[in-house]
Amino acid sequence: MMIPARRPAPTTGALALAAFAVLIAVPSAAAQDRTLALVGGQLLDGYEAPPIHHAAVVIEGNRIVAVGPAAEIDIPADAEIIDTRGKTMMPGMVDAHVHIMILGHGDYSRWFPWFEGNDELVYETSAKQLLAAGVTAGVDLAAPMSSLAFRDRVNRNEVPGPRLLASGPWVTRYAWGFLPDELRVLHRTPEEAAERTRMLIDAGVDVIKTWIGTTEEDMRAIKAVAGPAGIPIHCHVYAEEVVWGAIRGGCDVLQHAGSGGSVPPYSQELVDHIAMEGIPVVQTISHRIWIYPATVEFPERLWDPDIINSFPPSIREEVLASYTKNDFWRKPYFRTTPRQIRNSEGASRQFIEADALMAMGTDTGSPLNFHAESAWREVSAYVDMGMTEIEAISAATKVSAEVLGLSETGTIEPGKLADIIVVDGNPLFDINVLGYVTDVIKDGIIYKRNGVPVWEMEEAQTQTSTRGS
Ligand SMILES: [Zn+2]
Repeated sequence: MMIPARRPAPTTGALALAAFAVLIAVPSAAAQDRTLALVGGQLLDGYEAPPIHHAAVVIEGNRIVAVGPAAEIDIPADAEIIDTRGKTMMPGMVDAHVHIMILGHGDYSRWFPWFEGNDELVYETSAKQLLAAGVTAGVDLAAPMSSLAFRDRVNRNEVPGPRLLASGPWVTRYAWGFLPDELRVLHRTPEEAAERTRMLIDAGVDVIKTWIGTTEEDMRAIKAVAGPAGIPIHCHVYAEEVVWGAIRGGCDVLQHAGSGGSVPPYSQELVDHIAMEGIPVVQTISHRIWIYPATVEFPERLWDPDIINSFPPSIREEVLASYTKNDFWRKPYFRTTPRQIRNSEGASRQFIEADALMAMGTDTGSPLNFHAESAWREVSAYVDMGMTEIEAISAATKVSAEVLGLSETGTIEPGKLADIIVVDGNPLFDINVLGYVTDVIKDGIIYKRNGVPVWEMEEAQTQTSTRGS
């Protein structure tokens, strides 16, 4: 197994840049009616197509209006220019399995009591970390009801973060140990499952997430409510017979499939059925499976300043405390990791070989799986498992957007929403350069510039002006 153990070295230190932040105009949501042009770099548009070299993208407000070789594009004289020479422009990544209520902390039994009362700070931190990592859209799959109001704030651009869809609490027959009650709605019968589904839809969820124990009959009952409401069902599944049951019951997106459990390799019949029917698969293979060995090999990565400095002080302290003993391999979460590594690799290769419809999802926020790096690690894992670089990038952008029903984003084309990132280097040569996102634009708003998130620029500006007064 190839392990992307090292984070690609940033070419410019965020701290050094922050010192100059006062010289850079801080863009804000109010700047949305201006024209923006990204000029000079390589462009990947989200399709499995050759890149456009020395390209330009013109954005008006929150829409892309022109794309092509820079020499052929009319760049309006009043456009604000982002120089992308030497870099790659691509659609913002779309994460089809996000958790904003967790952020890489090593111990659930200690995290959730801490989370109570700190939910807004945690959501905001997760959303900023994801956005700075180049994730411009995603679906949150399990959080208390308070996540729905947060989703709305992000989607109104009041808080920095990816475009969010949210499931609210998951639907399950099991109350697992130390997870808080607000995280789940329990049922004992298919009738109750239907009732809980109705309650969640009325509360405004975008998708239903089913967790373990959901039977085929439960799934049919959930589908009977969610289907007519146009609400897709994302199903947490591992075992072959559970996957079959979910499919027969009307599951819309298979989550995790094959990234753990005891079953893979799956039967060829199942893999072929999933591929032929175009049932989306979101494997979440890098959490535990890539990240765990990467951390065993290089435990120093837990103190990576790019990760650690992206937390506010109180959360940073709590996260570091959860790893202080440096014995994360003893944590219960990783008990079955060796088996999961074997199974994930087997199942991933099966789905990729069968040309199944695979979106990119990370389970981001699970232990060791930091929002600041979950996306590039998952794309990198897909490449290790047999996708070409361009296939993996397309899975993480265009395909994931389509699977989530967010087809106004995910590609760089005239008419699409302006969700664009710039990465430092050529991901077609080394996929891990997705780990160095220099610029992030979401909904036409610049959220990261030259490697520095705008909220850090604002903080630096505040500090400077305080010192000067
Ligand atoms: Zn998850």
